[in-house]
Amino acid sequence: MQDQSDQTRALWVDGVSVFTPARTFDSVNPATGEVNWQVAFATAEHVAAAVASAKRAVNDPAWRKMLPHVRAGILMRIADAMTARADEFARLQMLENGKVWSECRAQALSAASTFRFYASACETLGSEVTPSRGNYLSMTAYEPYGVVAAITPWNSPLTMEAQKVAPALAAGNAVILKPSEVTPSGALLLAQVAFEAGLPKGLLNVVTGDGRETGTALVEHPDVRMVSFTGGTATGRSIAGIAAQRLIPVALELGGKSPHIIFEDANIDAAINGVVDGIFEGSGQSCVAGSRLFVQRSIYDKAVGLLVERARALRVGLPDVAGSQLGPLAGFAHRDRVERFVSIAREEGGQILAGGRRPPEAALQAGAFFEPTVIGGLSNSATAVQQEIFGPVLCVLPFGDEDDLIAQANDSAFGLASGIWTANYQRAWRVARALETGLVWINTYKQLSIATPFGGFKDSGIGREKGVNGVRLYQQSKGIYWSMDEKNFPSDGALA
Ligand code: NAD
Repeated sequence: MQDQSDQTRALWVDGVSVFTPARTFDSVNPATGEVNWQVAFATAEHVAAAVASAKRAVNDPAWRKMLPHVRAGILMRIADAMTARADEFARLQMLENGKVWSECRAQALSAASTFRFYASACETLGSEVTPSRGNYLSMTAYEPYGVVAAITPWNSPLTMEAQKVAPALAAGNAVILKPSEVTPSGALLLAQVAFEAGLPKGLLNVVTGDGRETGTALVEHPDVRMVSFTGGTATGRSIAGIAAQRLIPVALELGGKSPHIIFEDANIDAAINGVVDGIFEGSGQSCVAGSRLFVQRSIYDKAVGLLVERARALRVGLPDVAGSQLGPLAGFAHRDRVERFVSIAREEGGQILAGGRRPPEAALQAGAFFEPTVIGGLSNSATAVQQEIFGPVLCVLPFGDEDDLIAQANDSAFGLASGIWTANYQRAWRVARALETGLVWINTYKQLSIATPFGGFKDSGIGREKGVNGVRLYQQSKGIYWSMDEKNFPSDGALA
């Protein structure tokens, strides 16, 4: 690496790490407020150099003609290296977004297994012979777009980045990865690991910088042929606007305000466990956080009582201290935003049943901590119930019957995920089909598998990541017709 010390992080362009001493930004530890290190800022010129490198690499016969099992071998070696260095990946994420150690480590290992999954998909996904209507063979082949931009958020960077980079490479593309400016370092280590595992240079470039300058330069670059974005809905809309003008495809994984539902016949203890994990894990900074809880009126007081007890007992603490269940929010400005939502909820008549403030412990004063918060007394149209807070804040609402529940749950701009707790399997099926969300959990929550497609309805996004077909997101199909009888063209000899 050039000019790089332990206090700096360089970006990756054309297989080389580049430090920009004149232009850097701070990586800040949200648990302490201290600066971790300086990170190189990628300007439009760096983005252009990265795209040029990716274009060269993706057109190089060494990659274009590489047999799938050889490409799979590289992905498999990346997975092995990530597994071996899982602690390093986890530590970088913990220092940058403040998630507790156990969650960071689990996410590092999950990111590695995503590479393993797409290595297998790369070797096993085939092309298709399609039914013909004459004496010809018709086939569908799948080809890469070329240069793909992958833009990721800060909440779960390791898993999101693996979820984009692994299938995009498996599909035969070159990738320019733009991680969030809050969590740039995992992506930089991923590039290093990938090159050490034998990925040819230029196939993964990492440009670290902000959204306005670095991200926009990337999306607008004429040689970027597809954008895969995970982040906020407003950003997704603006990226989709540029992509529409450029006529390039976009995949958008956006925000959520997921309804979590407890019917009166549910196993209440299991349901409360699911609700607590579903909103408070990662301090609520999860796109699928179950942030709107609907409880059937007959058990409302009991369920909310249990929930409040559990929320108050959760241990907010430094992310590297064993036993901490919630770390800080990922940044100080973000905590201010979460606090504003709680104030608005108060103004709109909400009752703070638990939390609603910064924790008083002296050891936590320098960090962006916020207590797990439960708010009752709001209607489904209140600001805190409709907007994504992306923090440890749960709004609880009662419902009467199934129709009332479905009407309230679907009355949202978002449609990412939902959860249902009931002992009645017919009701579970009916409600699962009626909810306007891309994912439904029944008697569980936040259960995720790389094998299952993931994505949202409505303002929560367009396209589906994950699953074997996650590779197809990064490919375009080509129909090929191959005559078995030269005399059969043109059809029926009409113009002959
Ligand atoms: P964000 O939209 O602010 O930023 C996401 C990424 O986009 C960052 O890398 C940022 O630098 C970049 N960016 C910002 N403006 C840009 C622009 N104009 N052009 C190009 N790039 C730009 O989101 P965030 O605050 O980092 O993450 C939180 C959001 O992400 C939440 O809304 C959350 O729900 C969402 N999210 C969704 C999923 C999902 O799979 N649906 C997963 C995780 C997070």
